[in-house]
Amino acid sequence: MWRIAGSEAPLTIDHPAEATTRADTWLTAFQDALSARDVERAASLFADECYWRDLVSFTWNLLTVEGRDGVADLLRGTLEHTDPRNFTITGEPSEADGVTEAWLSFETATGRGTGHLRLADGKAWTLLTTLDELKGHEEPRKQRRPKGTEHGANRDRVTWLEQREAEQAELGHTRQPEVVVIGGGQGGIALGARLRQLGVPTIIVERNERPGDSWRKRYKSLALHDPVWYDHLPYLPFPDNWPVFAPKDKIGDWLEMYTKVMELNYWGSTTARSATYDEKAQQWEVVVDRAGEEVTLRPRQLVFALGVSGKPNVPVFPGHDRFLGDQHHSSQHPGADAYAGKKAVVIGSNNSAHDICGALWEAGADVTMVQRSSTCVIKSDSLMEHGLGPLYSEQAVASGVDTRTADLVFASLPYRIMADFQKPVYDTIREQDADFYEKLERAGFDLDFGDDDSGLFMKYLRRGSGYYIDVGAAQLVADGSVKLAKGQVTELTEREVVLDDGTRLEADLVVYATGFRSMNGLAADIIGQEMADRVGKVWGLGSGTTKDPGPWEGEQRNMWKPTQQKALWFHGGNLHQSRHYSLYLALQLKARAEGVPTPVYGLQASHHTS
Ligand SMILES: Cc1cc2nc3c(=O)[nH]c(=O)nc-3n(C[C@H](O)[C@H](O)[C@H](O)COP(=O)(O)OP(=O)(O)OC[C@H]3O[C@@H](n4cnc5c(N)ncnc54)[C@H](O)[C@@H]3O)c2cc1C
Repeated sequence: MWRIAGSEAPLTIDHPAEATTRADTWLTAFQDALSARDVERAASLFADECYWRDLVSFTWNLLTVEGRDGVADLLRGTLEHTDPRNFTITGEPSEADGVTEAWLSFETATGRGTGHLRLADGKAWTLLTTLDELKGHEEPRKQRRPKGTEHGANRDRVTWLEQREAEQAELGHTRQPEVVVIGGGQGGIALGARLRQLGVPTIIVERNERPGDSWRKRYKSLALHDPVWYDHLPYLPFPDNWPVFAPKDKIGDWLEMYTKVMELNYWGSTTARSATYDEKAQQWEVVVDRAGEEVTLRPRQLVFALGVSGKPNVPVFPGHDRFLGDQHHSSQHPGADAYAGKKAVVIGSNNSAHDICGALWEAGADVTMVQRSSTCVIKSDSLMEHGLGPLYSEQAVASGVDTRTADLVFASLPYRIMADFQKPVYDTIREQDADFYEKLERAGFDLDFGDDDSGLFMKYLRRGSGYYIDVGAAQLVADGSVKLAKGQVTELTEREVVLDDGTRLEADLVVYATGFRSMNGLAADIIGQEMADRVGKVWGLGSGTTKDPGPWEGEQRNMWKPTQQKALWFHGGNLHQSRHYSLYLALQLKARAEGVPTPVYGLQASHHTS
């Protein structure tokens, strides 16, 4: 079994014959119950503790139900129109620790899907069902790929370039796109590629000039914190010689190339100003400024891909207007070059703070980090070895785990129990890196591993903040090369940052590495506060842990699925999430474009405004 969080990657898998029998028996009974529309019988095949995660195939939603009652309710709401059939086991089921695992394929009335099943004592413990494609609207891949040219003689021949130029001249002017994606970072670009392949006319609007600029404009020392195996974009994986941790400008260039070869309609230097929904016409009116020209787009669907780390959270401290040095948010930090020999105070102690402190120290600045709350610090190598490696590494690839398999294994573990799977990973890392943590704590650094010790990845999913993947700067804090101050900032003077314990830190530069706000904050600037509040907070699981208030949602709030505003969607996350979930968002948009019925089961309520 592939354990997404297991510290020991079981690279040899057991496929005993009984596993196949067990999976077969269960699946046949499940299919029979579904065909008979016998909801109670189908639900009785699940264990007392059970989770069914559906990505669009039954629910036209991203949703996890729990317990037999949850399963029964999902089926009552979806079974008749979904008409699931042809459940088949693909590959050889495996067995480990009393759990049988099997991959499935199935069909619904409208599409084809992939599933993943975990059985314990013959009952379903976890079930994942995902939609792969819509019948009649399959992507033009492999045998279906376009010919690219028309053989023979034709006086009216239109070349590929002429077609592209005509499309670019028309779309948004004489012909309206079906979808407008606001935000052309890696998220908007990946979704745009999916929609292109599905034949959904789409315009991506991006205020920066070129694809990749959102990476180019970040501080100059930045390289991806996640390794290459985790970062591929849809359709076009990075080549085998791509660096493990790609420098930001290299990622920028890849995104620019990708946008071009994937034939995306990408409007750079274009800022979305406002978007209103015309209920009667069932379309949006999106006003954009395209290099100084006002253009109104009228798509039927609107997607925000503004970045989960899009809206800087900039605290305004008393005295900020008196301060005589440079001050800026981490997202505006130009890099360390100009600060050799200067005194720099970096407020914050997460990823950006560490990266910026490290670069300032390398440039010869006198650097102080101000830690305001505890941080989860994990060495990059340890995270790779124990967290990501089993699914995303050269070793995983060599043992046959391709990106899609890895993504589906990842998706198969319900969020409710993910923290329990993560805890042993961080217990192992804490033990292995005990010396490192001891040195950090001796330097006065406040460490944490999440409210429930489930570590960095759960912090990311729950709140998108509060951690540092250590690529070296933590050592500088531990040995005092980067000085550490702790507490809350009370004010800035002409040349100082003052903390609540009276500490005064001299500064020529203040960097606010103070994080980012929820994406609906950015969206509010475009759709208005009222609509943004109705849609509610974006991101988080409702875990009731710090910065992730309940109630429990079971999925990431408002991401990739229908929201409380018709025809309004949110897309984003890290490269892995954008790659994986862009498929399900693209299929939802394609279905609507084609008039395929999309009855949504379990539309999420909104509990928090931001
Ligand atoms: C320091 C740092 C390091 C990171 N490291 C990693 C990593 O290693 N791996 C990883 O996967 N992720 C990493 N991330 C997370 C990273 O933010 C995301 O992976 C990625 O950039 C998100 O892509 P996105 O397209 O969702 O958002 P963004 O890249 O933020 O793109 C959003 C785009 O929306 C545009 N926009 C905003 N408002 C408008 C408007 N009104 N009109 C038009 N366009 C608009 C912006 O210009 C921007 O280009 C890191 C983030 C930071 C801050």
